[in-house]
Amino acid sequence: MSAQHITLLTFGFFDKNLLKEVAEAVALGFRCEVVCKEARIDLGEYFNAGRRQYNGDRLLSVVGTLHLPDSMKTIGLFSVDLYIPILTYIFGQAHLGGEAGVASMFRLGNELYGLAPELLLQNERFIKEVIHELGHTFGLLHCYDVSCVMRSSAYVEDIDQKEKYFCANCYAALGFIGAVAK
Ligand SMILES: [Zn+2]
Ligand SMILES: [Zn+2]
Repeated sequence: MSAQHITLLTFGFFDKNLLKEVAEAVALGFRCEVVCKEARIDLGEYFNAGRRQYNGDRLLSVVGTLHLPDSMKTIGLFSVDLYIPILTYIFGQAHLGGEAGVASMFRLGNELYGLAPELLLQNERFIKEVIHELGHTFGLLHCYDVSCVMRSSAYVEDIDQKEKYFCANCYAALGFIGAVAK
C-alpha cells in the first residue's frame, strides 16, 4: 500500500455506501489513496455516564495510537455522541498538523433537531466534517471564507452553509498534496 494514503478507521457499524462516499470525497479532496479499516475496541470504556457521551479527547488519543506509519493520516469515524470537557459536544476534532482526527455522525441528522430525516444531507455533513478535521491534521486553521470547508461549525446549519471544498487560500496552504480548489 502506498505511504501516501489516508486511513478511515471506523468504530462501530457504518453503512458501506456511506463509507464509500466518504472515501471517494477524501480521495478527491486530498488527491490521495484512501484505505478503510475497522477498529475493534470497547467504546464503553470511553463513555461518561454522567454526560451520557463519549470522551472525544481520549478517543482522539486512541486513534493516534492506532495510526500506522504507512499511512499519512488516520481519522476515526464514530456514530456516538462525542464531547470534550470544555464543550457540550463536538462534531469532531483533530491534532493540528498531527496524524489523527475524529469525526462523528451523531449530531448530524435532522431528527436530532426535530426535523424530518434527510440521509443525503446527513451524509453530506459528515463528509464535510471528515474533510475539515483532516484539513486540521494537514495544518490548516479555521478559515473565514463562507463556503470553505475549513470554516468552523458550531451548528449543523453552519455545516450546510459551507461546501466540502477548500477555498483558494486553504488549497494553497495544503500545497504539496494538491487538494481540489474551489
Ligand atoms: Zn475545526
Ligand atoms: Zn479556506
